[in-house]
Amino acid sequence: MIPFQEAKNIVNGHLFQLKHEKVSLSESANRILSEDVVATMPSPQFDNSAMDGFAVRSEDTIGASKENPITLKMVSVSSAGSPSDIEIGPGECAQCMTGAAIPKGADAIVMVEESSGFSDDESVQIFLEASPGKHIRKQGEEISEGDLLIHKGAKISPSEIGTCATFGYGELTVFQKPKVAIFGTGNELIEPGNPLESGQIYNSNLYVFSDLAEKAGAEVIMRDVIQDDKESLRHFLSEALEACDVVISSGGVSMGRYDYVRDVFMELGVEEHFWKVAQKPGKPLFFGTGQNTLIFGLPGNPVSSYIGFMEWVWPALETMMGKTESKPLSGILTESFSRESIKKRFLFGKAWIENGQLVSKPATKVGSHMLTSSLEANCILSADPGETILNKGDEICVNILPWKKIV
Ligand code: AMP
Ligand code: MG
Repeated sequence: MIPFQEAKNIVNGHLFQLKHEKVSLSESANRILSEDVVATMPSPQFDNSAMDGFAVRSEDTIGASKENPITLKMVSVSSAGSPSDIEIGPGECAQCMTGAAIPKGADAIVMVEESSGFSDDESVQIFLEASPGKHIRKQGEEISEGDLLIHKGAKISPSEIGTCATFGYGELTVFQKPKVAIFGTGNELIEPGNPLESGQIYNSNLYVFSDLAEKAGAEVIMRDVIQDDKESLRHFLSEALEACDVVISSGGVSMGRYDYVRDVFMELGVEEHFWKVAQKPGKPLFFGTGQNTLIFGLPGNPVSSYIGFMEWVWPALETMMGKTESKPLSGILTESFSRESIKKRFLFGKAWIENGQLVSKPATKVGSHMLTSSLEANCILSADPGETILNKGDEICVNILPWKKIV
């Protein structure tokens, strides 16, 4: 059994970034940018109207009011999408719709509500004095050409995809998705939806892994529940080691008589870097490398494998896609947390803000087989080894589950 931090350093020493690929904008959601995105043009690109109204020379509207309207000659219509070649002179105005280019000579927009309205008449009455620049979106007021819009390493969410669309990017350069194989082991495992016979349980871990892998941005290309026999394991694993960047197993890696996963990894030439880590839950944790593959053998107990995925596999997947590991937060315990003397202790927990301070408490069910302890959780709490328990008021490490909110 090796100390947690030592094991972390070993894993970090074997992480690598995946190659880049171009994807169409419409397929880029949730991918990680592998290049900075810069503004290809200013935004707004040209001076345009923020309102449906009349483009005027502000000096022509001085003194205008409902009681004393000013009449201007209506010379043209500028609509959104029409070329910006309209011009107005003294005493003239043009109808100008939202998003339409401001005609040359105009320096303000009067809202249509402050006029006698749109019509085909040759003149229009203006009811309001317009100050220079009124209701005009100025070229470059938001972004200048060449500005850095989004950093490499950012995940593409609606804000990023919308911004890239705004600046005309039809394709983006992103990190490849890690190709992942997940497998569970155990003769006792039955797929949900089927009846259970005596001694059997449902496979839940692969459903958790699959969702986690997808949430992390990876692509699960192989998935299976395998009986506790070496031949079936060999068959699945030799293919997975060829085809995948990351292989993740659950179960079969402990001290049990039928725990063959580690043996088969070794038979297939996987280099073992460690097998047991000073952590609870999840001490039996295998980490190895193949030629171009990282291998994580997580324990079978559902809480151990879920937390193990989040603490070990998730950061590895993110690093492969160019993200820097996010630092856990520090919270104040509202209840005690029992530490382990030589193991790092993890528990699902709940974190929220109280009086401007992040506070948290561990789940009440602490067994590594009790997956329902994750239902109410929005974080994983962790404490370094220590002889004494952590008390209410002490600090604890809070790793917010990325898809949850702090409530
Ligand atoms: P193992 O690591 O194979 O000894 O498994 C430890 C515990 O986790 C046993 O109680 C298994 O039945 C359970 N277990 C293993 N794999 C799964 C799975 N895919 N889903 C749910 N429980 C599992
Ligand atoms: Mg087993």
